[in-house]
Amino acid sequence: MTQPHVKLQIPGPVEVSPETFAAMCQPMIGHRGSGFQALYADIQPKLQQVLHTRQPVFLSTSSAWGVMEAAIRNLVAKKVLCCCCGAFSDKWFDVAQRCGKAAEALKVEWGQPILPEQVEQRLKTGEFDAITVVHNETSTGLMNPLAEIAAVVRRFPEVSFIVDTVSSMTAVKVEPDALGIDVMLAGVQKAWALPPGLTVFTVSERALQKAATIPGRGYYFDFLEFKANHDKNMTPSTPSIPHIYGLQFKLNQMLAEGMDNRYARHQRMAQMVRDWARRNGFELFPRAGYESVTLTCVKNNRQIDVAKFQKLLKERHNILIDGGYGAIKGKSFRIAHMGDETPATIADLLPRLDDCLQRL
Ligand SMILES: *Cc1c(COP(=O)(O)O)cnc(C)c1O
Repeated sequence: MTQPHVKLQIPGPVEVSPETFAAMCQPMIGHRGSGFQALYADIQPKLQQVLHTRQPVFLSTSSAWGVMEAAIRNLVAKKVLCCCCGAFSDKWFDVAQRCGKAAEALKVEWGQPILPEQVEQRLKTGEFDAITVVHNETSTGLMNPLAEIAAVVRRFPEVSFIVDTVSSMTAVKVEPDALGIDVMLAGVQKAWALPPGLTVFTVSERALQKAATIPGRGYYFDFLEFKANHDKNMTPSTPSIPHIYGLQFKLNQMLAEGMDNRYARHQRMAQMVRDWARRNGFELFPRAGYESVTLTCVKNNRQIDVAKFQKLLKERHNILIDGGYGAIKGKSFRIAHMGDETPATIADLLPRLDDCLQRL
């Protein structure tokens, strides 16, 4: 490697440990053979344990957007309500329309959460048979009140509840069965701390039944294909097998740490970075009480030169942070604290941030 290792402190992809890479480097096996079936069968109960579900957990060789689009194609017959509060949730509305589905946006200002009463007001019109919610809106560093939204959605049994937990899965406790979530998905390059290229997702029994009635599901992302192959401990097409070895390694690691310890570790790291921001005269971008646990989106109320701050961090410390997403570039910056990060690695990061702030 001729390039220096620039440590990723952006909200995805995040750092991947050498141990994880090593676990992915195992001899290749055929995806229709007993070796693969044994691998799939080994990780399935662990996936269910980590995700707090009795539903099957499917593996898609795609980034998260593949399954975000799939959920629309498999589950929207009438009209989908897309809850929009940032770049990813806004884009889901666009994707739904591009799939040729009737869709409506429930829009709030970036930095504001989606509130349960807003959801209720739209769902009670009876116009919708699906809803999309991004749990942790990575672009604004905001975590939506998922349990409260779920309590509303459960009162509308005809509505499929589709939830993006891309940047919260395994870092924050979400119980899809208890909440009534029909599809819960995440790409593995966020809190899973694996390289990008695989998406983990749950599909409820009632969602599978509904999908069977919906035309135009295609093949690659057809939930029924996933289920039929899952029953044989396989995936519909050749998966990224190294990723699945990596997933096995991460699952074992998570279960050894204990999920509650893992959630507490993420809370601790989030608090450290929020405290750093306040100590330095910054406000946080999301509304108070809705801050993300896996990343901090700092509001640039001090009007610092964010691009220069980013450049200094990279040149002086080989660390990459994010300079703000889309419409809030330069008006905010984001620091990720998820996956394999620990309070010790964050304690190492913070003085480096100070060093660069002082040089602006
Ligand atoms: C990163 C991210 C996505 C998109 O993931 P891809 O891997 O680029 O498909 C979607 N939603 C959220 C909340 C994200 O953070």
